[in-house]
Amino acid sequence: MTNSNLKHKKVLITGGAAGIGLATAEAFARQGALIILVDLSEAALEKAREIIESRGGHCVTYPCDVSDWNSVQNLAGDIHRAQGPLDILINNAGIAYLAGVVEHPLDQWEKIHRVNVMGVVHFVQAFLPAMKQAGGPRHIVNIASVAALAPAPNMSAYAASKAAVRNFTEVLAMEQHGSDMVVQCVYPGIINTAIVSGIHSVGENISSRQLDKLQHYYRETGADPEVVARDIVRGVTSGRAHIPTGPMASLAGWLGRVSPRILRTLLIRSSKKSGYLAES
Ligand code: NAD
Repeated sequence: MTNSNLKHKKVLITGGAAGIGLATAEAFARQGALIILVDLSEAALEKAREIIESRGGHCVTYPCDVSDWNSVQNLAGDIHRAQGPLDILINNAGIAYLAGVVEHPLDQWEKIHRVNVMGVVHFVQAFLPAMKQAGGPRHIVNIASVAALAPAPNMSAYAASKAAVRNFTEVLAMEQHGSDMVVQCVYPGIINTAIVSGIHSVGENISSRQLDKLQHYYRETGADPEVVARDIVRGVTSGRAHIPTGPMASLAGWLGRVSPRILRTLLIRSSKKSGYLAES
């Protein structure tokens, strides 16, 4: 069973104040859903709420760091008291870092793991029990990345975190099989958001020229976050378990299954073009 009618559904989106999260919030708001936005900054959340409400949507906001378990537990208590159990939980908050395997600062490895992996675990543990108890079709949608299927060089921590999200989602889906819970995983390709354009610090093996090239590539060839938002709404209404979206996502997933060797050759080539890998 899936949610084909999204009117009045309670949709929580982490990292919802910008990028893919905000576009997804707007897309669900257009369907008449109540949007519950979670992000780090109150000011950014307030701006996002104004955007959604100026277009006739309904939105409430809660500042919270997804990597902090105590904050997430308190947030879940507040949301359950004010709104009741969620219909749709979208675990979208995520961060990235660019560095070679050896040069990747360990504190950045840990930070990426805490946000990208533990953030998802925290929200599922805090919100799933009430969703299940309420019954009826409800969704957990985890935003992984095409990097979980086809990683690029100089993004080891990020790619590992997204592979973890993918497998975590798969385990959750199997555990919920036969219940009304629909568990879904999204794999965006290159999307033009601040996750790359906002990178300021990188590993010492990455030159500023290489970073400029990568950021230029994202601006020029990255899809609009609305593309992902549209595919997430479609994915929720259709109940599709795996949702590739944006440039190359479907092709990379398919090629990885058919010929990992060809995929790796193509990824090395495309990484030189995009800036993930320095030209030798
Ligand atoms: P973005 O930087 O535009 O948005 C990410 C949002 O998450 C920001 O609003 C940020 O404040 C929030 N956030 C970060 N850390 C947080 C924390 N600890 N607690 C709460 N909120 C936090 O990036 P985006 O591209 O919109 O990324 C959204 C998701 O999509 C991420 O999980 C990302 O890994 C994934 N993704 C993005 C791309 C892409 O090309 N942009 C590709 C594949 C997957």
